[in-house]
Amino acid sequence: MEYAEHVVDLVGNTPLVKLNSLATGLSTPVLAKVEYVNPGGSVKDRIALRMVEAAEASGELRPGGTIVEPTSGNTGIGLAMVAQRKGYQCVFVCPDKVNVDKRNVLEAYGAEVVVCPTAVPPEHPDSYYSVSDRLAAQDGCWKPNQYANQSNPESHYHSTGPEIWEQTEGRITHFVAGVGTGGTISGTGRYLKEISDGRVQIVGADPEGSVYSGGKGRPYLVEGVGEDFWPAAYDRDICDEIVAVTDADSFQMTRRLAREEAMLVGGSCGMAVAAALRVAATAGPDDVIVVMLPDGGRGYLKTIFNDSWMASYGFLPPDHAAGSVGDVL
Ligand code: PMP
Repeated sequence: MEYAEHVVDLVGNTPLVKLNSLATGLSTPVLAKVEYVNPGGSVKDRIALRMVEAAEASGELRPGGTIVEPTSGNTGIGLAMVAQRKGYQCVFVCPDKVNVDKRNVLEAYGAEVVVCPTAVPPEHPDSYYSVSDRLAAQDGCWKPNQYANQSNPESHYHSTGPEIWEQTEGRITHFVAGVGTGGTISGTGRYLKEISDGRVQIVGADPEGSVYSGGKGRPYLVEGVGEDFWPAAYDRDICDEIVAVTDADSFQMTRRLAREEAMLVGGSCGMAVAAALRVAATAGPDDVIVVMLPDGGRGYLKTIFNDSWMASYGFLPPDHAAGSVGDVL
């Protein structure tokens, strides 16, 4: 019989899928690393597993302990899944602007979600930061802190990087990924640089306005990427180039991925693909571009895949025929 002992054993070893319609006219293959097939639905399953295992090994997380992290998204799902397997509790702290569907997913996995007001300064005792620090300081609690935890980039150094190298038989020439905590690009990029003697070009994709592409943290709507500070998980020596992508381009490309490639993915995927296609436009037939697709699109049906929402921000392309995508709600 062929089966896994637990869904956690299925984290990683994700496939590469060639872009077809979107890469029309290009001589360079653009291969998408499809992370939504991870059991928790995103690339963050990888870091959750490694951060927990490292904390167990160091004694920071003890049997029956509680994982406390300020997250509302993919990292929370990964941590909740790993925690359930290993018998830990999870408490996630999120600001009240986070939509209820996201909170519901975490609760469905058995996690507790503490919601904090957005409209208070960071030093206020009820703020997102204060509450998560206070909870994490309690006995038996451990805070992974994905922004500073070196197990985050290490998980990619040990899994994502080697997978891509083997899947492309060492022919990859460019790796393109969105930058959030920086863990994906730093860990995968370091591995690919080392094994190729510096040949593989590492390209970060960033929402216009974020610090990685020279901004000051100006607001943007694409989720999971871009920062207004420099996280310790990001290694500034890895990226050869950073490509800034607007929200409009990111979201239009996300919708094209669903309609033209049958890949229902999140907004940071559209952002990374927009950057990868720019790289591909100047690459040659012997180049091989791998682009990271971090999560699936189900969590974005009310936003990116909704015409009214897109139109309200002016993100629909000018030639968009009214009603052609339809209101998916
Ligand atoms: N896309 C999404 C949807 C994410 O949740 C994240 C993680 N914040 C990223 C991209 C960026 O990955 P990383 O944190 O490894 O830079």
